[in-house]
Amino acid sequence: MQLAKKILTTLAIVLLTGTLLRVSPAASPLPPLPEELEKAIEFHGHICNGFAKGYIAAKIAKEVLQTKDFEKAPILPIAENNQCGLDAIQTTLMEDSAFGNTIGNRERGLIVDDVGKDAFKFVRLSDMKGIRVLIKPGAVESVFRRTDWEYGVLRRKFFLGIARDAEKKKLFDIEKNNFRKLLAIPLKELCFVRDLTKEEISHIEEEYLAKLGPPDNKKLVCPICKEEFLTSRSRKLGNQIVCITCLRKVKRAKDREEKKK
Ligand SMILES: [Zn+2]
Ligand SMILES: [Zn+2]
Repeated sequence: MQLAKKILTTLAIVLLTGTLLRVSPAASPLPPLPEELEKAIEFHGHICNGFAKGYIAAKIAKEVLQTKDFEKAPILPIAENNQCGLDAIQTTLMEDSAFGNTIGNRERGLIVDDVGKDAFKFVRLSDMKGIRVLIKPGAVESVFRRTDWEYGVLRRKFFLGIARDAEKKKLFDIEKNNFRKLLAIPLKELCFVRDLTKEEISHIEEEYLAKLGPPDNKKLVCPICKEEFLTSRSRKLGNQIVCITCLRKVKRAKDREEKKK
């Protein structure tokens, strides 16, 4: 009996120690989310891998182009896609431009050259030095795994607008945690960075910057819808000059009639 008790006590101690050892985590703590990111997330409405890609690219641009002699130098971003990352670019670079690096600021705020790539070019306008940041395929997705069942379900509910408050909170917690995991990796390991070539720089100068003149304000009134529109967007319809909306309507009606035949 005495022996049985002793064996049981020893067994209990062994089990308990084992559990304690297993529970104590060896992983280093994740970095907190930077304050600027909280603001950016509020602007975008959620966190996702596209958003993360834009953030990584903008941070690298600041690191490479805003060195000591060029602190807060204005940077012109050119996005090679038209996705969530644009919002992160706008908010991250916001304070470094006289007018804001926003898409509404014509050609010097944010240019979208959508060729469908996870890449972003950045040009320091004071001396036209530029870089291209290409996000490594799968690098961000390895952290933001949509195949994770709970994450996938919550995301779907959120985008359908049917997530309850508690579910939204859960989703945001998962996403914020994902972002923290991402920030624990050195940003340069997540992408390829190279200088822009002379040819690329002159293309940007000719394509976007040379064209900058007084804003295009001349307007016409469309004879069909009677609404004003920019003269530069006018289209010919027979012998009339019309707006694009009306031209599209006429074309769609024609297509429908032809289908009936
Ligand atoms: Zn997004
Ligand atoms: Zn019209």
